[in-house]
Amino acid sequence: MRTDRTFTMLKPDSVEKGHIGAILEKITSAGFKIVAMKLTQMTTADAEEFYAIHKERPFFGELVTYMTRGPIVAAILEKDNAVEDFRTLIGATNPDEAAEGTIRKLYAASIGENAVHGSDSDENAAIEGAFHFAGREIF
Ligand code: UDP
Ligand code: MG
Repeated sequence: MRTDRTFTMLKPDSVEKGHIGAILEKITSAGFKIVAMKLTQMTTADAEEFYAIHKERPFFGELVTYMTRGPIVAAILEKDNAVEDFRTLIGATNPDEAAEGTIRKLYAASIGENAVHGSDSDENAAIEGAFHFAGREIF
């Protein structure tokens, strides 16, 4: 499993607030190369499948509603140690606990509406990237 790629989404709140450019600047300035990217919108079935691991959690319904309410930017990013370094760049799930300067500290409103997704393992990065992109869309 390659360790130099991760998958991200700029979630609907980031797109609604006009933060696409600022967040992409943070990502590329941190040394990540964009190897796939698109503006897209998840259906309810898409979000239920993407977040299936959370389906028993009390926030699952709200999470699906949030993630489907408008467009997202989906991207695959390349850098040495991509998964771990990207999780560091975005910060903790709850922006109140996120380190200063992280994307969630800067742009997330709450633990639910937290601006960005980052894969949590190399295995999930590959699954999530393939969920959103065909092979010919990945460079
Ligand atoms: N989430 C939520 N309430 C919680 C925990 C998570 O609404 O108490 C949402 C939030 O949008 C989060 C997503 O569910 O990003 C997935 O949760 P996970 O624990 O995987 O956090 P992440 O990996 O995104 O930091
Ligand atoms: Mg997660």
